[in-house]
Amino acid sequence: MRNRHSLRTLLVMSIFFIMLLSSMLTGSSYIVLLMFGIVPFPFLTQLTRPLLLLPFSVLIGMFISVFISARILRPIDDLISATRSVSKGDFSVRVEVGTSVDEIDELQRSFNEMAAELGSIELFREDFINNFSHEFKTPIVSIRGFARQLQREDITEEQRREYAGIIAEESDRLANLASSILLLSKLENQNIVTDKAPFRVDEEIRGSILLLEKQWEAKELALNLDLKQVTLTGNAGLLSHVWMNLIGNAIKFSPRAGALEICCRREGESVVFSVRDEGPGMDEETQRRVFDKFFQGDASHSLKGYGLGLALVKRIVLLCQGEVEIQSSPGAGSTFLVRLPDEAS
Ligand code: ADP
Repeated sequence: MRNRHSLRTLLVMSIFFIMLLSSMLTGSSYIVLLMFGIVPFPFLTQLTRPLLLLPFSVLIGMFISVFISARILRPIDDLISATRSVSKGDFSVRVEVGTSVDEIDELQRSFNEMAAELGSIELFREDFINNFSHEFKTPIVSIRGFARQLQREDITEEQRREYAGIIAEESDRLANLASSILLLSKLENQNIVTDKAPFRVDEEIRGSILLLEKQWEAKELALNLDLKQVTLTGNAGLLSHVWMNLIGNAIKFSPRAGALEICCRREGESVVFSVRDEGPGMDEETQRRVFDKFFQGDASHSLKGYGLGLALVKRIVLLCQGEVEIQSSPGAGSTFLVRLPDEAS
């Protein structure tokens, strides 16, 4: 309230002083012109009448400016109350855009954009918390259920083995989820890559392919490798998450007996890694969201995962000053391409 009042008073006072100053300047210029005989000396009545009218016109002007200032300041009023709503956590508030003043229109538009942006961050935060608790709760509920089953006397040896197997699998899932979350939050608070050393990218990728052998063998995938001998100065351990996640996803989304193409090569001062699969591909909306934490294209969660792999890939690649790109369309498979600058080159 105080701000609005002072702004309005300021406006009225400014108008008052402008009018007063211009009347005084006009008066004194007239006197100067009289003194130098540039204008003829009027009769006294001719001089006093306009002089007497001057204070009246200043007063009337001030009176009008009080009303006009209220109208001019209305959009500012609206912005102040909308800002108060935002500070109380209501991000749905918007101000009406459209005055005749460009700067105020710009302010209103920027305010609306800011409120929308804050709203989507809040939504993202709520989503994150919901997803986070969902992903943690599911394996815990499953472990509790099967542990209770194991306590029963009337189950067969085969059932006992099966339940113990599920408990072990779900515990692994929980441990993986916890380590992914920990790694991601650690990387989000990190701005530089430590422990850099030259390493052979092609050898690291071959190592990752070997670690995933059980998965691609089970799906009978045909692997086409084109791994050129390239050396990169970086943190090999950190980058192994990139190879493992991208190759792991390509295997996961490939159809049985499909083909996988994995390449690495040097392109100028960068090292390029790409992995292409013959999976379901992604539409543009999915491609935009795959790097978000907990995003899973398949909401039924039928394929194992928790939507953190690509968030990790993106963070690691960004930390290494590189870029990751997707070439994909529904039904036409997907290619993930990572470009990493090599400091040593
Ligand atoms: P998840 O562990 O669930 O796979 P990611 O972050 O690795 O999580 O992937 C997020 C989503 O991106 C997946 O649920 C899927 O919808 C999409 N995706 C990732 N890789 C591929 C791929 N190679 N082909 C098709 N979709 C993919």
